[in-house]
Amino acid sequence: MSMVQSAFPPRRNSVGVQVGSIRIGGGAPIVVQSMTNTDTEDEIATTVQVAQLARAGSELVRITVNTAEAARAVPGIRARLDDMGCQVPLIGDFHFNGHKLVTEYPGCARALAKYRINPGNVGHGKKRDEQFSILIEAACKYEKPVRIGVNWGSLDPELLARMMDENARSGDPRDASAVMYEALITSALQSAERAEEIGLGRDRIILSCKMSGVRDLITVYRALAARCDYALHLGLTEAGMGSKGIVASTAALSVLLLEGIGDTIRISLTPEPGGDRAREVVVAQEILQTTGLRAFVPLVAACPGCGRTTSTYFQELAESIQGYVREQMLVWREEYEGVENMTLAVMGCVVNGPGESKHANIGISLPGSGERPVAPVFVDGQKAVTLKGDNIAGEFRQIVDEYVQMKYPKKAVDAH
Ligand code: SF4
Repeated sequence: MSMVQSAFPPRRNSVGVQVGSIRIGGGAPIVVQSMTNTDTEDEIATTVQVAQLARAGSELVRITVNTAEAARAVPGIRARLDDMGCQVPLIGDFHFNGHKLVTEYPGCARALAKYRINPGNVGHGKKRDEQFSILIEAACKYEKPVRIGVNWGSLDPELLARMMDENARSGDPRDASAVMYEALITSALQSAERAEEIGLGRDRIILSCKMSGVRDLITVYRALAARCDYALHLGLTEAGMGSKGIVASTAALSVLLLEGIGDTIRISLTPEPGGDRAREVVVAQEILQTTGLRAFVPLVAACPGCGRTTSTYFQELAESIQGYVREQMLVWREEYEGVENMTLAVMGCVVNGPGESKHANIGISLPGSGERPVAPVFVDGQKAVTLKGDNIAGEFRQIVDEYVQMKYPKKAVDAH
């Protein structure tokens, strides 16, 4: 009998790039990054948000460096983060005046761990090449990597017009979207080639070609990945708000990541008013974890609930357990090896509850409507205890704590 095999392509080989303490590409785990939405000139607000994003798990944080005051604030932001013990590398997002800012504010150029340059927003006409060169020369001088980040909303208009023209004159013109895909890739690859000519090593170049359509993004990255071995940053730009942004980003990135494409990701979610900016970090981690590419925090499987369970109790328990393990993970990560791989299940009734619970490291099956008010708990597939009464949530958390202490080896304490 033939058996079903789980087969996904291996990770694409890419040249590794060191960004501060973090390695991107070259076989390193896929890196999660995010971007602040504070005014970089506001040193305190930006420091606080960078620290929040880093605490949520962002391994790199990008800040816009758009004005002289913002460039002046960058070394202060770095120093404040260092004082807080937050080592997360900062990436500077540069646009039309980036060449001036890295020249006039060397403290900013030094404090950043990577520069993001958009070839479509460096300048126009002759100035474009000159200003791009200045940014790359700064990267060489300060030994920093760059991301050459092409974005379809700001694609170099001269390049696109030239390629559209050439296409129109060719005997067999292709449709406009094919020309645009080609223009995005050409912009990234030509800019990378130019950066190398100026003296930047391949191990200091990361590429991205962001688009907002799921199929567009997949098409472009497949082609880009096949044509070069630069490390690639993935992200669906302008993904949107709420579930739309999460679903679109997940749909696009999952396909590429499971094809072995992508070395670092960012999820460009628009926060709801008053929403948490760190949600984009959680979504990025969850994409990597649910696709089996990395583990960050124990995941809680929960049933959707149905008419068999009239109480919302199990939904609240699932939510509180997920929140609890995410919070506890900050401590567990320092103390125990491998807790991020733990799985938990919170199920609403006896129909699927015990079965699903048995597949998790720890599972609880709550009573459905009309069932006896007891909640069996399964540990490593075996029924361990049956909880009842008013403190099922508290007792379940205690079981989780004890399991972590018992199951995962203590990390060696660094004597220094
Ligand atoms: S486990 Fe029970 S409550 Fe949950 S969806 Fe299945 S039948 Fe409904």
